Amino acid sequence: MRLRTRLAILAILVSTLACAAQAQSPTPADIVFVNGKVFTADDGDRVVQGFAVAGDRFVAIGTDSEMRGHIGPRTKVIDLKSRFVSPGITDDHFHNEGGGPGVDLSHVRSLGELLTTVANAAAAALADTVIVSNSDWHEAQLKEQRLPTAEELEQAAPNKPVVLVRGGHEYILNTSALKKWNVTKDTPVPSGGQISRNAAGELTGELFDEAKALVTLPRPKPVNMDDILATQKALAPYGITAIRIPGAYRGDMVQAYRLMKQAEAEGKLTLRWTVYMPGFSLRSAEAARKAIETWGTHQGEGSDWVKVDGVKLIVDGGFEGGHLSKPYLEPYGQGGKFTGVTVSPPAAYTEVVRELNSKGWHMITHAVGDAALDEVLDAYAAADKDASIKGKRWSVEHAFVSRPEQVARLKDLDVAISAQDHLYLAAPVLKKYWGWETASEVTPVKTYLDAGLLVAGGTDSPVIPFNPFWNLYHMASRDTISDGVYGEDQKIASRPLLLRLVTINYAKLIGEEKTRGSIEPGKLADFAVLSDDFLTAKLETIRDMKALSTWVGGREVYRAQGYE
Ligand SMILES: [Zn+2]
Repeated sequence: MRLRTRLAILAILVSTLACAAQAQSPTPADIVFVNGKVFTADDGDRVVQGFAVAGDRFVAIGTDSEMRGHIGPRTKVIDLKSRFVSPGITDDHFHNEGGGPGVDLSHVRSLGELLTTVANAAAAALADTVIVSNSDWHEAQLKEQRLPTAEELEQAAPNKPVVLVRGGHEYILNTSALKKWNVTKDTPVPSGGQISRNAAGELTGELFDEAKALVTLPRPKPVNMDDILATQKALAPYGITAIRIPGAYRGDMVQAYRLMKQAEAEGKLTLRWTVYMPGFSLRSAEAARKAIETWGTHQGEGSDWVKVDGVKLIVDGGFEGGHLSKPYLEPYGQGGKFTGVTVSPPAAYTEVVRELNSKGWHMITHAVGDAALDEVLDAYAAADKDASIKGKRWSVEHAFVSRPEQVARLKDLDVAISAQDHLYLAAPVLKKYWGWETASEVTPVKTYLDAGLLVAGGTDSPVIPFNPFWNLYHMASRDTISDGVYGEDQKIASRPLLLRLVTINYAKLIGEEKTRGSIEPGKLADFAVLSDDFLTAKLETIRDMKALSTWVGGREVYRAQGYE
């Protein structure tokens, strides 16, 4: 036998022996978790006792005795004491965690409290300053369930301009502010916007969507590293390990993306970010080409921590401007004429979608009403003819209202649904605008799931508070904060399925299901120990759940006080 052959055989023998040794006693893990109730979100929705982590990955899952095989002299062993563990929780539509430098209305519960808060801010403000609120509040949280009028705000802050910012689509101005920006009954309504009037034809002070451009607010402080770190800190107590940012984060998505990358380079990230470039204002192929240059990035750029996954577009308004195929209830329907707001007209929108598709970008589009959904489906179908969009996780964001044939088209085009719990907060307002029949079926998650669509869950924070357990409670119960159960037929009874919406389905939505989203060997070790057993907890308990401990990439990034 030649030496080389003998060496080769020897090498094979050695490697075989090494394999055998490995099978008997696997490489010790860094940390082994035992004695838990671990929901894996794998294909079988298995629940196991424990798992082992090495570096930033899961390396094994199984029974306690199986896990003991992964314990070496330096392995840390953590007794979960029967606690429930979920794969890291996620938010599929998150702008920021709310708050900000403006007047805080998030805690007021009546019109009186709101006006007092504004009056106090006005009394403290210097002359000539514009009083601006933060955006994380909604009239549905008020006992009266309506907005203040321009006159009421004027009485609270006489001769001082007030602009209440509400969610992402609406401003409410007092009389002084209307005067300051010269908004009168004769002001032409900007296309893609609305200037609201009451039954008597007087301005109410509400401006929405493109009409907001009539007002110039003081520029907010530029987005900075503290914002990024504050978001991470706010979300960890809810077990959140990853978020998807649809095009807007504290005023400057492109700069925020740079900061996220800087935070990653400096080892400061404790949350995984998937971002979408802002394409809301693009109205032509030419504009889209220019925008791509200013973004300075490309589809798929990034890492497991920060990744660019597409472009965010918008076709209609929000609660008060969702584009329906039927007119709004009176008086909002303006005599059967008002069906919502078209923010991006179909021809322009389609041109932009096709152009971005031709450059390899994936689209995610805000569409609230069913007429808006028609617009999205038509544009996506046109793009699909140019270059297939299937398997690329294009999505509709929100999809409040849809018709059965639209659901079939979504399926045909392989478009995913990014769903949130707006109804939980805004139900009575939607009922007022759209009527019970339409409002009660808002965001028909069960219909979408039954049709075989990929659906993930989130909150649209700060439009809706970012608490994922409110979202899961709402989807399980269809209960709302102030108006009882809406659309019982859309309840999701299966607890594993609910958790899948914010774990593995999220990973699929961002195309990362091979690397995360479930507790399986080889995947990133993102998970949370929760305060209660999600699979068996009473419905009402879900709403109040929290994380006891949150882990990202095999590292504990949050621990609740008092939890050992
Ligand atoms: Zn949004």
